[in-house]
Amino acid sequence: MVVGLTGQIGSGKSTAAKILSSMGAVVVDADHIGRDVVEQSPPLIKKLVREFGNQILNESGNLNRKRLAALAFQNYQSRQKLNDLVHPYLLKELRRQCRTLLKTHELVVIDAALLLDWELDREIDAVIVVHASQQVRLDRLEKRGITRRDALARQRVQLPLSEFRRRADYWVTNNATPNALRLKLENIITIIAPKLLTDRH
Ligand code: ADP
Repeated sequence: MVVGLTGQIGSGKSTAAKILSSMGAVVVDADHIGRDVVEQSPPLIKKLVREFGNQILNESGNLNRKRLAALAFQNYQSRQKLNDLVHPYLLKELRRQCRTLLKTHELVVIDAALLLDWELDREIDAVIVVHASQQVRLDRLEKRGITRRDALARQRVQLPLSEFRRRADYWVTNNATPNALRLKLENIITIIAPKLLTDRH
């Protein structure tokens, strides 16, 4: 089965992905795939050069991701343009990886902040939303070196919480300890992929 894991920034989505992985699930990380396709897909690099100019390449003709990010994150429009170009490649690769991994794994987890924006909930078996209160999210991000201001700016471009709530099959509140999060996830796995837990004992 394929399960999507999503939530607002700082909610603990990546932490949940690590826990699920320790339980035997295989995790497909959308951010990671995004970085790979940007570097490894010549047709995409061509489109990016057409949009952002030769300056995004370094001397040897390879993509300079830092320069691309600096240009694309200057304003909302260019960031949108980057996403519009990259996301189709990302999604194609993400679907391919899920198909392949499903052949050998009981549970494939897609870790993606934009899972619902991409409407992947229409094609997967279940959606787990990890949630934490705004104060907890901001405190955690601050500890990770992301300022309150940046965190709020990132949060503003995400879907409203009501949308996460409406489209979640499982709602996991992560305001307490990582161990409490683990227990909640274990309960969900008991329902959706019990074989995963029994196989491990
Ligand atoms: P997201 O992927 O949703 O942005 P992360 O999983 O990266 O969130 O979590 C944000 C930060 O909060 C990380 O530094 C992580 O270690 C920490 N964190 C996550 N869950 C907990 C928890 N239950 N208790 C304490 N810290 C946590």
